Amino acid sequence: MEHTHPSPDLDQVKPAGSRRSGKREFIVNVFLRHEGHLSADDLVELIRREDSRISRATVYRALQWMEEAGIARKVDFGEGRFRFEHSYRHPRHFHLICKGCGRSSEFLSSDIEALIEEVAAARSFSAHQSVVQIYGTCEVCRTGRPETAEAVRAEILFARDALRIAIATERSGLEFYSRAAAAARNPRGRAVFERLAEEEREHLAKLEARYQRLLAQDPQLESRPTFLFFKGAANGLFAAGAEQVARGVNDRQALMLAVRCERTSHRFFKRYGEQFEDTEGRRIFLEFADEERQHLEVLIRACRTLTSRRRRGARARGGAAARSRAQA
Ligand SMILES: [Zn+2]
Ligand SMILES: [Zn+2]
Repeated sequence: MEHTHPSPDLDQVKPAGSRRSGKREFIVNVFLRHEGHLSADDLVELIRREDSRISRATVYRALQWMEEAGIARKVDFGEGRFRFEHSYRHPRHFHLICKGCGRSSEFLSSDIEALIEEVAAARSFSAHQSVVQIYGTCEVCRTGRPETAEAVRAEILFARDALRIAIATERSGLEFYSRAAAAARNPRGRAVFERLAEEEREHLAKLEARYQRLLAQDPQLESRPTFLFFKGAANGLFAAGAEQVARGVNDRQALMLAVRCERTSHRFFKRYGEQFEDTEGRRIFLEFADEERQHLEVLIRACRTLTSRRRRGARARGGAAARSRAQA
């Protein structure tokens, strides 16, 4: 399925010292015009259709160069030959592969990543690369209905889904802080929660505006299949905390809960974002991780103030008790 999109700035991804020939540039452009997973022979055929003078060896060399330059990534679907997909601004992902027609589609899952981390950590194993391939029969082969969704750039789907997960987290954060502010007895505690609720509201508005800008690039974007699955974080990382606040906690417990939620959220977005190469989705995750870290700092300061006030209060009460004992 063909699909055009702006070519990356190849001067940036070009390995140092290499000379780019006109032929190679042409081959790179043809490769980048095609979304999906091409075998070397598929690419030779596409190139030959446009310029029959380019040799198979030249195409193979160009592919190897693209791999080294980070433009192409090799994938093995167990067919006895490699396929190549875009690597530049294309997040690492998992595959669904149809045994009927050979078509493949892509997805990401924060839950699978978390599971891989958990398993690796439990065995003290340092994981470098994880491959998840699901083989079966695609909808087209199963039902005979023609394919509806055309191939779209993974980068825009990744950005859409990264924004969805950030928005879900922001919403649950807003819910958490609104509830905590309403339940707070101490005016200082209430002021901290109100301030954070206000920040969540502002961030939410910004994220929603960004989401709308993304939708403006592709009117069908909302209805395209999910690329990034995030079941574990779908209700927002503050949802459990918000429930606990609703069941009744004191100001100090609410603060501790907030610290825990912000820390979980910061870690989730930072660790998940960092595993991707430069993409809009990565930037969304890392920017969000930064905001969560700032909230965490506000909360930790509030916790310290509360603790030192308590100590001063306890000392004052202790002093008064000693004086009254002395008077007795
Ligand atoms: Zn199929
Ligand atoms: Zn792929």
